[in-house]
Amino acid sequence: MSSKPQAEKPRWSHCNECGHETLHKVVKLIRKSRDFNDDDYPVSVGSNWRILQCCGCQEVSMSRTDWCSEDDPHDPAVPAYFPPRVSRRKPDWLVRREVPSYQGLLDEVYAALHADSRRLAMMGARAIIDKAMAKLVGDQGSFAQGVQALVDAGLIGKPERPLIEAAFDAGSATMHRGHQPTADSLNTVIDIVERIVHAEVLAEKAKELAAATPPRPPRAPKPKNTQKKASK
Ligand SMILES: [Zn+2]
Repeated sequence: MSSKPQAEKPRWSHCNECGHETLHKVVKLIRKSRDFNDDDYPVSVGSNWRILQCCGCQEVSMSRTDWCSEDDPHDPAVPAYFPPRVSRRKPDWLVRREVPSYQGLLDEVYAALHADSRRLAMMGARAIIDKAMAKLVGDQGSFAQGVQALVDAGLIGKPERPLIEAAFDAGSATMHRGHQPTADSLNTVIDIVERIVHAEVLAEKAKELAAATPPRPPRAPKPKNTQKKASK
């Protein structure tokens, strides 16, 4: 009989890169266990570590499933994943590092989101709004005046104003009153933050595009249309 351990079957789990459940190959399985035999009642506990690789995008992750010999076999243990499984992906322009001035802060906000550190993510989102505002209209003394300056300069429209105020208020509540945002409200704020930063990316791209486009040649004077008249 071969001593080679049998390879585990591929298993379904969420892939952070693909953004949905995909089939994962079990590249390696490591079992760790310990037996206790107190009062002649043997109990074993252990953990199964798996290195997983997405069969779609090849992304690698790890899972750990803790078990105990006393566990209910009808209630299987839920594995923990490293890095944690997330429902929100970084936008493509952030992955392509198109916003160097925000990259560090945004990366940390995403790291907090992935670790379900919602308060930290919200505080980071507020810091990004502050930074964007200072960059666009300078220090205006207060947040309300900053938003007004953005509206006056035509950098945000009227419908966006309540969105930015709501995002900033949520960040303040987290910082000063220890408010724990729900995943939904945090996602809304991150949507708003991404929109503000992405608007800057698009403005830069528009400038580059305009600079790279050759100017329209001057129009030649209109020839007299004698032919059309003659054919009539
Ligand atoms: Zn994948």
